[in-house]
Amino acid sequence: MQKQGENPSRLVFVVYPFQGHINPMLQLATAFHTKGYSITIIHPEFNSPNPSNHPPFTFVSIPDRLLQSNVSLAPGDFLTRIFVLNKNCAAPLKQCLERMLDDDDGKHSVEHVAGVIYDCFMYFVQFVADDLGLPGFSMRPVAAAWLLVSVIPHTEQESVFESQIPELQPLELTSMAKNPTDAATEMRAAMLNATERSSGVILNTMEFLEYAALSTIREYWPAPLFATGPFHKLAPSSASSLLQEDARCISWLDHQAPRSIIYVSFGSIAGLSKQDVVEMAWGLAESKQPFLWVIRHGSVLGTTELLLPDGFRERVGDRGLIVEWAPQQEVLAHDAVGGFWTHCGWNSTLESVSQGVPMLCRPCFGDQFLNMRYICYVWKIGLRLENVLDRGNVEDGIRTLMVNIQGEEMRHRAMEFKAKTELCLREGGSSSSSLDEFTKLISSV
Ligand code: UDP
Repeated sequence: MQKQGENPSRLVFVVYPFQGHINPMLQLATAFHTKGYSITIIHPEFNSPNPSNHPPFTFVSIPDRLLQSNVSLAPGDFLTRIFVLNKNCAAPLKQCLERMLDDDDGKHSVEHVAGVIYDCFMYFVQFVADDLGLPGFSMRPVAAAWLLVSVIPHTEQESVFESQIPELQPLELTSMAKNPTDAATEMRAAMLNATERSSGVILNTMEFLEYAALSTIREYWPAPLFATGPFHKLAPSSASSLLQEDARCISWLDHQAPRSIIYVSFGSIAGLSKQDVVEMAWGLAESKQPFLWVIRHGSVLGTTELLLPDGFRERVGDRGLIVEWAPQQEVLAHDAVGGFWTHCGWNSTLESVSQGVPMLCRPCFGDQFLNMRYICYVWKIGLRLENVLDRGNVEDGIRTLMVNIQGEEMRHRAMEFKAKTELCLREGGSSSSSLDEFTKLISSV
């Protein structure tokens, strides 16, 4: 916390421009604003956040030439997007920071820039900060376990996983470490290189949630790590949605029985095939459970129309509500919600964990498979759905989660996770103390 009378300090946050990264970054910035820091958000032009949702912050847009570089926005092409953003944004960021440091118009001149906190996917920022003599801090909006395959030497990985987190081993060693593509290896090396030069790493996770992963990383890696999540609970509320939230969700939920609703959403990037939508629709209908289903505009591959199967709407009547985008945190906090069918994005995972909502898991790509393994096999607060969607599996999965004893046990465990999350966030709790430590580090470097 800054003390009165001290020179005000400014923190600069550099955003990776996708919803699942913008949210935690703006939440973290809001937490630092309440600690007394002035905030500048530097973001690529692509997917610009709306400054009017954060009046106290200064927003600065830098050219990214992402769309001019003909980069595909398909989920599978995320590595190319990362490389292009890292290449194209370096010079504009440097100019922008130089202007800030030299600013003589009075706006920044009385302030000291205390540091630059950047999304770990924007690893170039560390090198720009180094050039300008500013401390850089890496923010990781993904599970800490993702760092394991980068920091543990290849030859030791098998035995470390076996002894520390056996449930994660099959995934980590097969799809992430043993046969990574050249591009994935290059990206991991670039991220690690930047992170190693940073003055500290702040993670959107909690000590109790990833105890084994965090302690293993600390054994191998001396860099200071701060597990201060979940970020969405650090800030009172931080409106950072790029899409318009449909407010009908909450009034509709207000009329539903406690824990009766399954909420269905696959986040901001994952796509569905037309056949997936048909199987999901009939699975939801046959499950006989009430549902709130988010089908993002444009998320069904090959069409911009919402094509639901004939007879589906008549079959479900008022039992289901379909929207294009929901106020997800509010939805998960609502008493009427008893389960979350999710793609296991890390934000969605933390939002569900912190509300004690058990999950039906259908990961689509990347770290979502790692998160699914945590949810289903380590924390045991969710159930895996087969990747090929089939109406029978969907119906069975929903009924198991919502009405069977197995689902009830998961809900019970999930409520324990909610209680532990609240403890972490209280004064003296691990996340709250870690945030204080991180703040001290910022003022000391
Ligand atoms: N989200 C939302 N409304 C929706 C669906 C998602 O506000 O209808 C938010 C959700 O709360 C989360 C983010 O979008 O903070 C998605 O991030 P996540 O890491 O779960 O998945 P990604 O979109 O990155 O795949």
